[in-house]
Amino acid sequence: MLDIEISMDCRNCANHCCGFMPHCRPVLMPWEPPSQFFGLADKKGKINVIRKRRGGYCIFLNEQCQCAIYPHRPLECRLFPFKLKFTDYNVKLEVDQRCAQHHLFGQESANRLLTALAGYKFPMSWIWSYVSYRK
Ligand code: SF4
Ligand code: SF4
Repeated sequence: MLDIEISMDCRNCANHCCGFMPHCRPVLMPWEPPSQFFGLADKKGKINVIRKRRGGYCIFLNEQCQCAIYPHRPLECRLFPFKLKFTDYNVKLEVDQRCAQHHLFGQESANRLLTALAGYKFPMSWIWSYVSYRK
């Protein structure tokens, strides 16, 4: 089970970003089994991607444009507005400029998340599929 500490406090700016941004199809991390998300994920190469519903939105986005599984959402959603970046197979985080409040998220937050992530392993084959999917 994921450590709840690995989570950003988004500023809840009512931008409803899950409804507007492409990150609304979160990729599950290598240690996040689809069964943790009711099996509602599709295999794309070595990665599992949360299924979309009609309109292309994440299947967990409800009619009120809220996440139906917020306390248990995937890690990629917990990290946002930081996004994973891989350089020479080292994991880094960079702020997604599409977040309406992106200027509020600094290096201190990124360092906290990276420290929490340090114990998790990203297999090389998984990184290849992830980078190619997120291009
Ligand atoms: S799982 Fe929840 S937070 Fe993540 S994209 Fe879907 S609706 Fe948004
Ligand atoms: S745009 Fe940024 S601050 Fe606003 S809801 Fe989305 S993640 Fe939170």
